[in-house]
This record gives sequence, structure tokens and C-alpha cells, in this order.
Amino acid sequence: MTRREWLRLAGAVPAAAAPRISGWILVHEHILVDFAGADLAGPHRYDRQEVFRLALPKLKEIAALGCRRLQECTPNFLGRDPGLLARLAEAAGLEIWTNTGLYGARNHIFLPGYARTETAAQLARRWIAEARDGVGGLRPRFIKIGVNQAPLHPLDRKLVQAAALTSRETGLAIASHTGGGAAALEQLEMLDAAGVEARRFVWVHAQNERDHALHARAAKAGAWVEFDAIQAASADWHLTCVRKLAAAGGRARTLISQDSGWYHVGEPGGGDFRGYAYLFRDFVPRLEPGEVQALLMDNPIACFGR
Ligand SMILES: [Zn+2]
Repeated sequence: MTRREWLRLAGAVPAAAAPRISGWILVHEHILVDFAGADLAGPHRYDRQEVFRLALPKLKEIAALGCRRLQECTPNFLGRDPGLLARLAEAAGLEIWTNTGLYGARNHIFLPGYARTETAAQLARRWIAEARDGVGGLRPRFIKIGVNQAPLHPLDRKLVQAAALTSRETGLAIASHTGGGAAALEQLEMLDAAGVEARRFVWVHAQNERDHALHARAAKAGAWVEFDAIQAASADWHLTCVRKLAAAGGRARTLISQDSGWYHVGEPGGGDFRGYAYLFRDFVPRLEPGEVQALLMDNPIACFGR
């Protein structure tokens, strides 16, 4: 990428003056989230047309900035709505990926009853079927789970095992909402024991771990270290995380995203629905061109596929 293209991306050069760039990938964002809990959440709780109307301009905005794919990380029972995502993708002109899996973080309040009674193999069968047959017209392209702090609770360990079985069968990457470095390393040990390569694992929310040495350890083991939730207030810390990991040899294992959005089900008008352009407009200009290419294109493709 030339410097001119890079500045264009940041809005510093008018679109007409530079070739359109496309290909950026946001690996972790949300369009709709419902925190009502597994027993209550569902599409009956919101007006799909309203969500569509509010989300579309935010997606068009990043498509125009060169974003070609947004990976929607809302798990099942937290507002995952593949039918809505498919409609938005079509209208906005960018890919939107959905996921399979279950979210055990926040002490398991978002788990359906069957997650407690079924075995890891039974859960994996459900997830493999979704990955194979699709859900709501979309085929999940990654596994999203969520776990609590280490030492991992048996329920969390079951989700990791189910994710391992699903990944082995489908080849999909496992993005895991993870409490901290110890929980990330415990999951990597489990995956290793289950015969899943570390390169299939994404440590989601790694910015919450203050010890850069643990980021480096996970990357050295082959895992992906995702610094998400990039916003104006946190951008300095994120940049520090990115640079420290690069200095430790981990640039080719680093992912960045915003964990931004979203339509808040249950709040009037969807509440504070943040857009997705901050990273392109404000954070990218702070990166070197080579970093941008790695963090927003090459690494996401190497991790999740094309
Ligand atoms: Zn998220």
C-alpha cells in the first residue's frame, strides 16, 4: 500500500484522488446484542426492520472506507440473528460472518439449559451441524465461545472441549472470550491435549491482560492474540499492546478490532449504537503501512480464512 492510499483510508485524501482500496477485515464487532439471558433472548424482543434501518448506514460507511468483511461475534442466545446479518450484508455490500458456539462468560447466565446436561461431544454435534448446514441462511465461519477466569470452571472446560471437537471436524478457528492470560494458556493446553493446533485459537479481549509477556507466550505457542475494543479512550494502550507484541516477534499472530456496535435490545431505539469507522479513520493512521496490511488483512485471512 502506498502512503497516499493509506492516507485516503484515513480520510485525509478525497476518495476521488486515490484508488479505492478494499480488503480490510474487522474480526470482532457486533450488530445486535441482547443481554436478557438465554431463557428470554430472541427475535420477538426487537423490531428487525428498526435494527436494519439503524445498522445499514454504519455498515455502508465502512464498506466505503474499504472494509470488505465484518465478523459478527454475537453468540447464540445473546442475539445472534443470521437472517438479519444476511440481509444487511447484501444491502451494505460487504461480507458479514456469523459464528457457532456458546458463551459461558459472566458465570454462565447466557448458556441454555442443554449446555449443562449435554456432553462436549453432544454440543460439538450441534455446532458441526450448524457449520455444515448453516443457520438462518448463513453458514457460521468461526466458533465463538466465552469462558470465565482461570482455573476454568468445568462448564467452561466443556465448551473448550466442544470447540476443539468442532474445530477438528470443520477446520474452523475458535475465538474465545477469555478472562485473562492464565485462562488463555489453560485453553491452549486443553487444545493441545485434544490435538488442535494453537493456530486455531484466538485469545479474544487480550488487551485486558496487562502482562505483555503472556501475550508473547501465547503468540509464541502459535495462538492469535486479539486486541479488540479499540476506541479513542483506549487507543494508546492498544497501540502499546500491538507494538510490544511485535517487538517480541508476534506481529504475524496479532489481530485488532473494535468490539463495537451495537443495537442494544431492550433499550429505546437500540440505545447507543456506535459505528465501526473509528479504527479506519483514527487508529490506522497511527500504524505503519506494513502493520495495517498485516493486522487488517493478512492476519485475519491467515487465521479465519478468505
Ligand atoms: Zn464482543
